[in-house]
Amino acid sequence: MKRIQGLHHITAVAKDPQINVDFYRQVLGQRLVKTTVNFDDPGTYHFYYGDEVGTPGTIMTFFPWRHVGKGRVGNGETAAVAYGVRPEAIGFWRDYLARQGVTAVLTTTRFGADVLTFTDPDGMQLELVASTAPAAFRFWEQGPIPESHTLLGFHGVTLWLDEVEATAQLLTAQLGYQFVGQENGRYRYQAADDSMGVYVDILQRPGGEDGRFGAGSIHHIALRTVDDSEQLDYLRHLQQAGYRVTPVQDRQYFHSIYFRSPGGVLFEIATDAPGFAIDEPIAELGDRLQLPAWFAAQRQQIEAALPSFVRKPIVKAEVVHE
Ligand code: ZN
Repeated sequence: MKRIQGLHHITAVAKDPQINVDFYRQVLGQRLVKTTVNFDDPGTYHFYYGDEVGTPGTIMTFFPWRHVGKGRVGNGETAAVAYGVRPEAIGFWRDYLARQGVTAVLTTTRFGADVLTFTDPDGMQLELVASTAPAAFRFWEQGPIPESHTLLGFHGVTLWLDEVEATAQLLTAQLGYQFVGQENGRYRYQAADDSMGVYVDILQRPGGEDGRFGAGSIHHIALRTVDDSEQLDYLRHLQQAGYRVTPVQDRQYFHSIYFRSPGGVLFEIATDAPGFAIDEPIAELGDRLQLPAWFAAQRQQIEAALPSFVRKPIVKAEVVHE
């Protein structure tokens, strides 16, 4: 069994679909690569944002639930999502976000890297981490951000937990992560690769308040596996280690298994294939509502129940030269 290669996607909860699309597409410059519904609740959208084609490791997804209350970040969940950017892009992002009305704080260096911290419109914690690691992604030419400054895919995630050991054991003994180091109560684990999306940090917060699920909460994090047979190996391996793992679910664009970490964080292991071009051409990704075959007969009712939103014209970001 190969070691986990890194993050595949991250799924979170938003409140308003229009505000969510405006922020991730126009402000962060991520392409809306798939517009579909929550397969477990087809009255809700499922938005997928990523690079031009939705490369695993770039995919941020949301369920916009209009009637959900505001979440509160706390222990027992994934608390922050970090994207990588080139070190020379950090200054651009701080100024650009300010011009978009988003206050970003340049935090002290973390494992030697600059980190820009801010929140999305629902209060989800986002970070841009300066990184020189190789990044395998397809740049979205039509997006608002110039290629030199674009997000490079995920850098990693931060889990907030009471205690580190049990989840560290899951990462290292079951999933092939390696302990990298510890700094100010932050324990870092790295997946097989040395590229983007390879870090899981655990921030130890003994006795810290638990998170409250709602808008701005991260629902689960999905790790990458190469194919179906390796996914089945992981399923068996995790079951043998005492984890309660779901059977394989067909998520149309990938196949998934789910389990909870000892600290309560929901994990998924997802396959790279078949990807987002399975039901529409790359040039049109995300432009129309896509439904899997099992919902096709209900398309009219599903469309009628979903709120409308628009994809606003892209405004190219100005790069102010210092
Ligand atoms: Zn998922």
